[in-house]
Amino acid sequence: MLDTQRLRADIPAYADAAGPPPVFLDSAGSSLPPRVVIDTITAHLRREGEIGGYRAATERLDDLAGVKSAIGALINADASAIALSDSASRSWSDFFYAIGLGPGDRILISGADYASNAIAALQRARASGASVEAIPSDPTGRLDLEAFADLLDERVKVVSLLHAPTNGGLVNPVAEATRIAHRVGALVVLDACQSAGQIAIDVTELGVDAMSATGRKWLRGPRGTGFLYVRPEVCRELEPSRLDLHSATWTGPQEYRLAPDATRFEFWECDVAARLGLGAAVRYLLDLGPEHVFAAVAANANRLRDQLPSIPGVTVRDLGTERSGIVSFTIEGLDPVEIRDRLRDSDITVTVSHRSSTLLDMSARRLDSVVRASPHCFVSVEELDRFLDAVGRLARRRR
Ligand SMILES: *Cc1c(COP(=O)(O)O)cnc(C)c1O
Repeated sequence: MLDTQRLRADIPAYADAAGPPPVFLDSAGSSLPPRVVIDTITAHLRREGEIGGYRAATERLDDLAGVKSAIGALINADASAIALSDSASRSWSDFFYAIGLGPGDRILISGADYASNAIAALQRARASGASVEAIPSDPTGRLDLEAFADLLDERVKVVSLLHAPTNGGLVNPVAEATRIAHRVGALVVLDACQSAGQIAIDVTELGVDAMSATGRKWLRGPRGTGFLYVRPEVCRELEPSRLDLHSATWTGPQEYRLAPDATRFEFWECDVAARLGLGAAVRYLLDLGPEHVFAAVAANANRLRDQLPSIPGVTVRDLGTERSGIVSFTIEGLDPVEIRDRLRDSDITVTVSHRSSTLLDMSARRLDSVVRASPHCFVSVEELDRFLDAVGRLARRRR
């Protein structure tokens, strides 16, 4: 069990609040980090100001190495299979652009795929003569495993799977889909942005070839952080499209040698303070016990999903059978942007997910946008109820 009091005492927004605490329901966007993350970052920035960035980083070499070990512990990977970056999109595309593609090759993307992944796929298809096709969804909205199997042939070079989409509570059957994709030798890259930090991930069990995630969402790290996992057997065969003196070594006038592990997907320069902050966030999660955190997120999201439909005019838009901590909904006759702004007037933070972020899925459902509420483990039942009351008032005023 989580000690919610302690969790909240670790968050400045709650511990230092003079009046009623804010209702924070945007961990799918950019969460509230624990104090140790903020302190780690600010202390390092101060240290850089005292002795310069190089010496300051040298003092923290062990902690910097520990960032990858902590991530590895969370997803059951070796630290050498992790490459750190400044965002999930960077990590995803670093892997994707390293895959060789030619005319006639096929790229499959998920029905709920994220815009950045789809845009990268379209760009590479245009440049290489490959095609981009979407994997159909089943009637519940999950990736349709049978239709997926039927789509596959040996021209499929890469499959983009989405663990949990940005615009709703769906969770996809990743392990099963990966096994199917591997039958034709396709590479599988998993977008775990909306699952890392709120759903258990074991990359060995899932079997994916690569996985990307961001720091600022459910992991509660700082902005400008992300990471890539690459399966070692696959990593050895891939050359990133861009290199520097960290991802490779200049060994002769006409020669360079790639780093032997996932480091080949990293550049040397980075925001060291943010990186240390990400390490602190992941260690904090490991110390809490990830399974307790995941259970608390699910309980909070389920409370909203259970209660919202009883408000007249409110429709929950989540798909699938297994659900994540994202709760998406609309209120009849009200623009989601207006809902978000009105809730903000009551110090309730939610976001809006627009059609262009998940074009295929939203177009298929004829939705322009949905309101997205994503409560992390630290949100109290009282705050969830304040949110439900506020939604009820908005819906009533409308009718
Ligand atoms: C947020 C998000 C991303 C992008 O993460 P960045 O760190 O902003 O690059 C990718 N995929 C999904 C599903 C997301 O929700």
